[in-house]
Amino acid sequence: MKTVCLQDWVLKIDVEKTKEYYDSITVEEGCDCDYCKNYIKNCKTFSQEVLDFYTMLGIDPQKEGEFMEFETDTDEHLYMGFYHLVGEIIKKPSKKAKKWDDLNIIRVDNMKFTFTDELDLVPEDFPKPVIQLEFEVVLPWLLE
Ligand SMILES: [Zn+2]
Repeated sequence: MKTVCLQDWVLKIDVEKTKEYYDSITVEEGCDCDYCKNYIKNCKTFSQEVLDFYTMLGIDPQKEGEFMEFETDTDEHLYMGFYHLVGEIIKKPSKKAKKWDDLNIIRVDNMKFTFTDELDLVPEDFPKPVIQLEFEVVLPWLLE
């Protein structure tokens, strides 16, 4: 495992094991509703900065965790969701701050990220230890 410092987060991440897991699953195994398909299509337009962030962690952003879509007042769509990765949280920015408190948020281009060890929907065969990367992003509708 390698130690990764992101702003005030200190994490230990097994990038190779995480990448191996994402390589072992296919996009098609995920949900195929239009909301998820739209998110996956948007992944191809993510900036290099965002793609580098995912690559550094070993995550393929097209393969969920979980993707959730929320309507906004505009034509755009709010997406929230999460990915699992093999690793441990060594130090949180603040013990008291809530998950989406500014202290905890890592901003990469147009995306917001935070980490948690309160896990949801971990696949049975996901290598341990597991932590969860949560994201929030507003995206356009790209499907026909
Ligand atoms: Zn879906």
